[in-house]
Amino acid sequence: MLEQLRAEVLEGNLELVRRGLVIYTFGNASAVSRAEGLCVIKPSGVPYDKMTPADMVITDLEGRIVEGKMKPSTDLDTHVALYRAFPGIGGIVHTHSRNATSWAQAAREIPCFGTTHADYFHGPVPVTDPLTPEEIDSGYEASTGVAIIRRMQGMDPLACPAILVAGHAPFCWGKSIRDAVHAAVIVEELAMMALQTLAINPDARPISQALRDKHHFRKHGPAATYGQK
Ligand SMILES: [Zn+2]
Repeated sequence: MLEQLRAEVLEGNLELVRRGLVIYTFGNASAVSRAEGLCVIKPSGVPYDKMTPADMVITDLEGRIVEGKMKPSTDLDTHVALYRAFPGIGGIVHTHSRNATSWAQAAREIPCFGTTHADYFHGPVPVTDPLTPEEIDSGYEASTGVAIIRRMQGMDPLACPAILVAGHAPFCWGKSIRDAVHAAVIVEELAMMALQTLAINPDARPISQALRDKHHFRKHGPAATYGQK
């Protein structure tokens, strides 16, 4: 079932390792088949070098296992909550990549300090509110999804393909799992650049709105001119 998507999900997870975003069994990536209403996700705690497409777990969008012998990633309930809330996304990636996680632990959004950032995000990379003790005790992973959805209210998820969960780490998404992996790599790079910007100049300010608009809308939206379309 969903052989192609299983292969894509394995490939997405392996790409996180190749890009240095994941160590040991940290992190997880999934994809959704909107036609079938099913999620394909990495199994929990299986070493990356041993994983095969057959190990991927298929669930419905409520997180019930439909096919697979392994236990799904422990963050499954966050993934399916996001698939239900953001109908335009096709893949989700969660890592504890070093620099993005540092910003998440500091509970600070990543300011848009330059055009590299503006090419991908038309503003800061947002951060959620911390989870309350009640949210942590009752359905922690689903509550993480709720915190993300709450913070993303009024925003287009495809125009802002990542968020930092306060005290935890980034969640990233995209139209496909490939795009979600790409977003995770970019967020890590932006997080590192922002950190170094502040190390060089603690008074650094975000770029102007004019420069932000110029770079963002060159690549996104109806007036985009970037690439070979
Ligand atoms: Zn995590």
